[in-house]
Amino acid sequence: MSLDTATLERLRGQDAAHYLHPFTDSRELAAIGARVITHAEGIYVFDGEGRKILDGMSGLWCVNLGYGRREIADAVHRQMLELPYYNSFFQTTHPRAVELATRLATLAPAAGETRFDHVFFSSSGSESNDTNIRLVRRYWDLMGQPQRKTLISRWNGYHGSTIGGASLSGMSGMHSQGDLPIPGVAHIMQPFAFEHAHPGESRDDFGLRAARALEEKILELGPDTVAAFIAEPVQGAGGVIIPPDSYWPEIQRIVDKYGILLISDEVICAFGRLGHWFAYEKFGYRPDLVTFAKGVTSGYVPLGGVMVGSRVAKVLVEQGGEFNHGYTYSGHPVACQAALTTLDIMQAEGLVERVRSDTGPWLAQGFAALADHPLVGLAESCGMVAGLQLVRDRASNTLFDSALGVGMLCRGHCFNNGVIMRAVGDRMIIAPPLVMTRSDIDELLRLIRHALDLTLADVR
Ligand code: PLP
Repeated sequence: MSLDTATLERLRGQDAAHYLHPFTDSRELAAIGARVITHAEGIYVFDGEGRKILDGMSGLWCVNLGYGRREIADAVHRQMLELPYYNSFFQTTHPRAVELATRLATLAPAAGETRFDHVFFSSSGSESNDTNIRLVRRYWDLMGQPQRKTLISRWNGYHGSTIGGASLSGMSGMHSQGDLPIPGVAHIMQPFAFEHAHPGESRDDFGLRAARALEEKILELGPDTVAAFIAEPVQGAGGVIIPPDSYWPEIQRIVDKYGILLISDEVICAFGRLGHWFAYEKFGYRPDLVTFAKGVTSGYVPLGGVMVGSRVAKVLVEQGGEFNHGYTYSGHPVACQAALTTLDIMQAEGLVERVRSDTGPWLAQGFAALADHPLVGLAESCGMVAGLQLVRDRASNTLFDSALGVGMLCRGHCFNNGVIMRAVGDRMIIAPPLVMTRSDIDELLRLIRHALDLTLADVR
């Protein structure tokens, strides 16, 4: 459904005049005019000019089932007629929230002694991480250790855009606006070997060193002041950064040693993205709290939440009294129904297993092969997320001058030639829909290679 020129111009004009976009330079956008996405089907989105574009990012890492799933639309429609809204404040509940909480408790595997029998609902990843700040501080107050207030996270990690979420995030661009981070948040290095490993340092040695930055920070702050460590299993928005195998076991050793809570932010990584329902299972660590959002509803309706492990839930439930925290839309019935139907589809189609044993390995093989391209210094994937590093010289892994904006150039070639990739500096990343078949993946890789060729022609 391409739009006529007058309609497109009107939309772009009104967009520039009235719509403040997230993470956007409004003046720059007004000058070039926004891309108008009009509709979508399966793994493709369509723009106002009628282009069909393979969505290699699943929207924003969320449309895991692809677009146009009638089952979700129908279920949401029925729920809107049956009970469009009710809250779960003031000792009420409703069937969909109960069913979803029970379902999630069943899906989340135990991690050692920790069971995930409880869930707190929100509408987004950012809200969920704000909930985590409230939860861990409340926990330590109830444990009689109110001095344990600081949360440690990582530079270049992403945990959301609210004041709490942006503070936990380690993005300098976010911190530079509005006096962030808030007090009580500290950051350590990210486990990104390509950027931070010393010459000659093995990947695993680097992983240990990156993890031990946590221990150094705990000792610097004073172990009895630290409440929790929060991290993404694989960093997403930071550029799909896959930690060395040695990283997570060492993090687990350190949090155990100092008794601090571990929060696994799985807003991207849960619900099959890495081939498991929850990513802590893949890496074998034992979180106390697990943040989720995005894929739980395949992005069709906003829903997020926190899986609360037994260590925290026991104290909160048995000793906590009223927890003075909640959102109008916590456990929203329509969102819960969207999640229940999403989970039904995922189970009926065996998607988690498919990513783990079929499409994930297929993508891994095909994506790694992009490393033979003259522009690519590193190409790696994990389940259905992948990232490649654009470099000026492959032999020495020399980066481009960041002022050249080669990543943005490549992103433009992708979009104009039928595929969506995201650029994080000069890292090009994808998180394709989990429903993709092997031949869809082949098509995705073909389009990416073509965009790399066009980019190469520009920079040579
Ligand atoms: N945590 C992680 C790991 C994320 O990737 C994101 C969003 O991309 C968030 C939190 C924030 O989620 P939301 O945008 O739903 O607030």
